[in-house]
Amino acid sequence: MKSSPITILKFGGTSVQDANAMNQLVDIVRTRSGRRLVVVSALAKVTDTLVKIAECCEQKQSPLARQLVKDICDRHLDVAEHLKLSNKQILFLQDFLNQLIEWVENQLTLGEMSPKAKDHLLSFGELCSSCLVQGVISKKITSFWVDARDLIATNSEFNSAQVDRELTRNNLMEKVVPHLDEAVGVTQGFIGSDGFGNTTTLGRGGSDYSAALMGAGLDAEKVEIWTDVDGILSTDPRIVKNARVIDQLHFLEAAEMAYFGAKVIHPKTIFPALEKKISVWILNSKNPSAQGTEITYAEDYRSKGVTGIAFKKEVTLVNIYSTRMLGAHGFLKSVFDIFARHKLSVDLIATSEVNLSLTLDPNSDLEALNKVKQELESFSEVEVHGHRGMISVVGGGIRKTPGLALKIFSHLSDINIQMVSMGASELNLSFVVHSDEVNEVIKRLHQSLIES
Ligand code: ADP
Ligand code: ASP
Ligand code: MG
Repeated sequence: MKSSPITILKFGGTSVQDANAMNQLVDIVRTRSGRRLVVVSALAKVTDTLVKIAECCEQKQSPLARQLVKDICDRHLDVAEHLKLSNKQILFLQDFLNQLIEWVENQLTLGEMSPKAKDHLLSFGELCSSCLVQGVISKKITSFWVDARDLIATNSEFNSAQVDRELTRNNLMEKVVPHLDEAVGVTQGFIGSDGFGNTTTLGRGGSDYSAALMGAGLDAEKVEIWTDVDGILSTDPRIVKNARVIDQLHFLEAAEMAYFGAKVIHPKTIFPALEKKISVWILNSKNPSAQGTEITYAEDYRSKGVTGIAFKKEVTLVNIYSTRMLGAHGFLKSVFDIFARHKLSVDLIATSEVNLSLTLDPNSDLEALNKVKQELESFSEVEVHGHRGMISVVGGGIRKTPGLALKIFSHLSDINIQMVSMGASELNLSFVVHSDEVNEVIKRLHQSLIES
């Protein structure tokens, strides 16, 4: 008998934030048929708390660290109680909570927090939430729990590990597929392990990426990303209340929105799904009957105009001026070699013969940036401006819409635009302003480019 199609259902932090949300999750899983794998994030805000605990360990702030660990334990046990989980399921959860307590005590004694140790610490968020989710699912549907560290195989680049796709696929085929006909699988997003058995993570917000990796590795038919908004919206609804749901979005536009800051989906999510042309949906776990956004692979995206507006607050703008290299070859190469060596990834670039402006992601390592600056200063003058915001107007028709740049900038005549870049992807026009002006710019552009 031929097996049924596989659906991956990924639930983000707010979709597993409490007992209520977890019960809703079960209802959603029950509406889906066929073989299903549920991928969960940590309970909302738990990863942030674990990051704070990591800082406390480094600074030997024992009372605060212990308090935060206790808060996490209490919260999970409280949800378990509300869900009326069996003793066996509570013991399963308690085992991870005990490991967390013991491990933090040990780290407090050492007074350090290596990237490797931090990944181990952060993994408890997803491990604990998946115990609760599997516990509640198993009351209604036969299910099994699987440790994502036995599935997602990565290198040892802690905090943002690179995935070995082939090994991951083999793991999924061996450890998940044989059970899926009989039961719904429950596993964690965000975490994996390296070849030495160390826990790794895929970067903040990486559970979406995990879901796509699992979808690709399992040849799934569909990946559903369940979150707290009705889909991918024309811009961040926290800034523009009447941001619109985009019913269908070409995968390149979705990738561009994500890359340029739309937090609703992790930028790496699209590409594993693309390889297998897996249908990806963004859906609202608090409003499951809403249609959501479908990411499509249809080829006609270039005919459209502006799809959405993404942004990143708190980027760093770096201006590099070289006089000595006028007419010389290799200026750009020298600059980018330095950024690459210090593992700083550049978002936007605008160049002239000897000048270069670029922006760095808000999460960039400032120590690395200082070293880059020192090296660049051996052949150029360098200005570093923090507290900048990058705004990207995204859409398949950006290059083919006459007068679009005028339309954008005519509404910003009182705003100081500090850099402009039209992406080579032809899908975005991005520019940099002062961080304090980002919200105002987004509101004006949404009004003029999308609402009217
Ligand atoms: P989850 O925990 O489910 O992964 P996230 O908080 O990571 O959810 O992402 C969902 C949030 O992304 C939304 O609540 C919204 O505030 C924010 N967001 C930013 N830009 C967009 C956008 N263009 N469309 C939808 N949501 C967006
Ligand atoms: N829990 C992780 C984070 O908050 C991963 C995720 O939610 O996608 O970054
Ligand atoms: Mg997310």
